[in-house]
Amino acid sequence: INAKSSIKPLDTTIETNAEDNRIFKLVLLGDSGVGKTSLFLRFANDAFNDIFLPTVGVDFWDTAGQERFRSLISSHYRNAKGAFVVFDVTNLKSFENVTRWLQEINENSNNDLKTLLVGNKCDLTLKRVVDHAQAKNLADSLNILYVETSAKNTTNVELAFMSLISEIMPNQSSVKT
Ligand code: GDP
Repeated sequence: INAKSSIKPLDTTIETNAEDNRIFKLVLLGDSGVGKTSLFLRFANDAFNDIFLPTVGVDFWDTAGQERFRSLISSHYRNAKGAFVVFDVTNLKSFENVTRWLQEINENSNNDLKTLLVGNKCDLTLKRVVDHAQAKNLADSLNILYVETSAKNTTNVELAFMSLISEIMPNQSSVKT
């Protein structure tokens, strides 16, 4: 991460070079405990330095722990270019709440926010209660991509971030999916 980077305890925001017009903001949404922070940290640790930051600055915001402060939420969507809606494949409620998060996006973002559905914790195969087809069907009906990840063992974490970034910047040749 570059010299101006900072991580704040609640917002998990990485601030990159403000003069770089390629900076954009992604938000991570989803119920508490689904793994938003873990996904972000996994991506930041494993991929940021080597692959992505040399070419594109990214400003991340993570809503983790802020569900109670819903009145403040709209300001966090401002200028966001992409959103991950994350659920936990071992937690049915978090999957059911995906529609709530999508509704919140519709209510709070006035720009064309690219959205990606993420089913996290796919390493927990024995505890899985939401199967791939079920989530894929939902994503297809919404015309958004679906990616299953494990922040624990790194499965598809980079793919998820790169897929969303590719949707936002389709002509960015350095973005791999
Ligand atoms: P957040 O509230 O959405 O930010 O969720 P966290 O990132 O804090 O994760 C909640 C809990 O789930 C923590 O105990 C994490 O270690 C665990 N966790 C997150 N991602 C995974 C994953 O992919 N697999 C497994 N097994 N556990 C995970």
